[in-house]
Amino acid sequence: MTNQTSTTNEPNRIPLHIGIDDTDSTRQGCTTYIAALLTQKLIQLGADFFDYPNLIRLNPNIPWKTRGNAALSLRVNINQNALRKAIEETLRIVERESDLSHPRTDPGIVFYQGKPVPQDIKTFARRTIQDVVKKSEALKLIKHYSAEAYGFNSGRGIIGALAAIGETLEGDHTYEFIAYRIPANIGSPRRVDDKSVLQMDVKMKGQTYNNTDPDKKRVLITPRGKDPVLLGIRGEDPQAVKIAYSMIKVNEKIERWIVFRTNQATDAHLRKIESIKEIRPYRPVIAVGSLVQEPHMIPGRHVIFTIQDNTAKIDCAAYEPTGKFRNIIRQLSIGDQIEVYGGVRPPSIRNLITINLEKIKIISLTTKTTLINPHCRVCGGRMESMGKGQGLRCKKCNNREDNAKKTATQVPRKISEGLYIPPPRAHRHLTKPFCRYGIEKTLHTSTIPRDFEGLGNPHFTT
Ligand SMILES: [Zn+2]
Repeated sequence: MTNQTSTTNEPNRIPLHIGIDDTDSTRQGCTTYIAALLTQKLIQLGADFFDYPNLIRLNPNIPWKTRGNAALSLRVNINQNALRKAIEETLRIVERESDLSHPRTDPGIVFYQGKPVPQDIKTFARRTIQDVVKKSEALKLIKHYSAEAYGFNSGRGIIGALAAIGETLEGDHTYEFIAYRIPANIGSPRRVDDKSVLQMDVKMKGQTYNNTDPDKKRVLITPRGKDPVLLGIRGEDPQAVKIAYSMIKVNEKIERWIVFRTNQATDAHLRKIESIKEIRPYRPVIAVGSLVQEPHMIPGRHVIFTIQDNTAKIDCAAYEPTGKFRNIIRQLSIGDQIEVYGGVRPPSIRNLITINLEKIKIISLTTKTTLINPHCRVCGGRMESMGKGQGLRCKKCNNREDNAKKTATQVPRKISEGLYIPPPRAHRHLTKPFCRYGIEKTLHTSTIPRDFEGLGNPHFTT
């Protein structure tokens, strides 16, 4: 189902941005599925999409987020006489599909008519991705720009709904192809051939990312549990994710599919700060400091260390799920200069404010030395200590030297300078993986989406 004709220039066509957020709970539902249903409905009402549906990941560190903290926006041109119907249908679908009985599901929907999106709303969106914002700020903007907002329960989702409209993805962005299961299959094991996913991953390297986990040889495109999502493939452009899908053997019926444009894998949540004293809870950061405490393991197999600059100190933690990443962290030493990336946890009874590490860059390693026994001058064997203040003796020829001392020797470092990222299974949706470094998009000029959604199992001709 494709919208073939662009009729933007007709005077009775109105640009409409629809933002939705917080429709799902930890137990069921999926905001992206609601967006897919709504996309089909809008096309039936004669709307033309002037962008791919946008899947916007908001600040992953806010305490009241549901699961992936995904907000969605749909941007269409629609006839004046279909506008009210589009708004009514949106409200009807969100109300029907949301887990409204769950105490922490607080859906919000925002409608904004006009093009382009005001700078104030773009700035608000940026803050919703990197910071903590209040509902009152969203309501103020909605009033000022004559947008329409609807909230269910506490209506906190209005924040994310407005942010999804405001994040127009003009800088770096990626795409995700998502296929949804038919209702009868939800809850049963997903019938997707793992081997075909591993093969696709090799063929589509550089164009798709995080399909599999290299350490555990595990497929990552299929979620677990009762989610309506069968699989999601993330990549650089709409064509790449569709080609990747066509390489996978799917042995079950697909209800519908859609391609989203997203801020996933762009590090959009991380804000570079000048000094450690600026760090605040729930605001993800990039900060530079030098180690002042050796890394040590705490119960739960998490690794903790402390960095400092000339303004303050802060704890950093690499948690157990980051796997081998912790082996790198444990090799760090006092004096090493590093850049840390991650979310910020508030202080608890046991801990100070802590950076939850998503990646690190080692800027410079200190020279580490240790004292070792010298070689024997007679036979070249290794000398050993005879006890405190008693000189050294050769283990091999018994040569004794009363005034010999241990000598300082440089210890080879087992790590080198550079960027280190945990394995894909530990990534947040927003974490930029290795393979995206150097291919970030810097400018997005509006593209009319083509062949971006449909019903049933898709058959792409590639
Ligand atoms: Zn000797």
